[in-house]
Amino acid sequence: MMTLKINHLHAIIKETGEEILKGVDLTVPTGEIHAIMGPNGTGKSTLSETIMGYPAYEVTQGTVEFDGQDVLSLPVNERARLGMFLGMQYPAEIQGVNNADFIRTAINAQRPEDDPLPVLQFIQRLQENMALLEMPDDITDRYLNVGFSGGEKKRNEVLQMLMLQPKLAILDEIDSGLDIDALRIVAKGINHLRGPKFSALLITHYERLLEYVTPDKIHVMVDGQIVKTAGPELADELEADGYAKYEQIRRNGV
Ligand code: ADP
Ligand code: MG
Ligand code: MG
Repeated sequence: MMTLKINHLHAIIKETGEEILKGVDLTVPTGEIHAIMGPNGTGKSTLSETIMGYPAYEVTQGTVEFDGQDVLSLPVNERARLGMFLGMQYPAEIQGVNNADFIRTAINAQRPEDDPLPVLQFIQRLQENMALLEMPDDITDRYLNVGFSGGEKKRNEVLQMLMLQPKLAILDEIDSGLDIDALRIVAKGINHLRGPKFSALLITHYERLLEYVTPDKIHVMVDGQIVKTAGPELADELEADGYAKYEQIRRNGV
């Protein structure tokens, strides 16, 4: 079964009309972890935000299916209810919103209105996951991401993921700016969810994360298209040789 199936997706930036996604084809079978690697400015964040329905982008062609459902016709909150989660490249700081309350609200928004997660169960799960991620107790009492270090923000995205237990997690540069200990912990969080019902799309510049979370497939994205898909061994080639070869393939037509 395919958790995520993207066919010939084109998207523009609404404000400027510039096309960023230029025919993305990508499938993530259920239970697999895939990575997308590619140079900066190639449309990786645009792809993740377009899948989730962020309003800055407009889809002009193509389809996105999640568990066989047409995602593009759904509003953002309903995409999350399907079990899609986006860990953002630049998590927002939100003054006045308590971190734990934010997570609890997000969980309950995905449950039937008359069946909220019992508070004690929530607290127990929160404590387990914070322990797994080696997070200090006070971090959930603070305002969402306010004054968090870069590494704390990324770890907090992973905490949200563990709490929400999505079917598909898209993690956009969850590894950027992490020291080796934080990277190991973030990888532990991802591997914790790994299983036959969980799929993930790891967007990353560096193969370092992929040493800790071995992907089933790696896709190379250049200038708004996926130009190459291969097994985890591709990370070593990209680390050694960079993206020049794939930029050339892209220029000359795939
Ligand atoms: P990547 O994540 O691969 O580094 P992005 O998806 O962030 O690439 O960006 C792709 C291109 O789209 C870049 O040239 C970027 O400047 C542009 N872009 C993305 N989002 C916006 C936006 N909201 N407004 C203007 N330009 C944008
Ligand atoms: Mg970028
Ligand atoms: Mg990006």
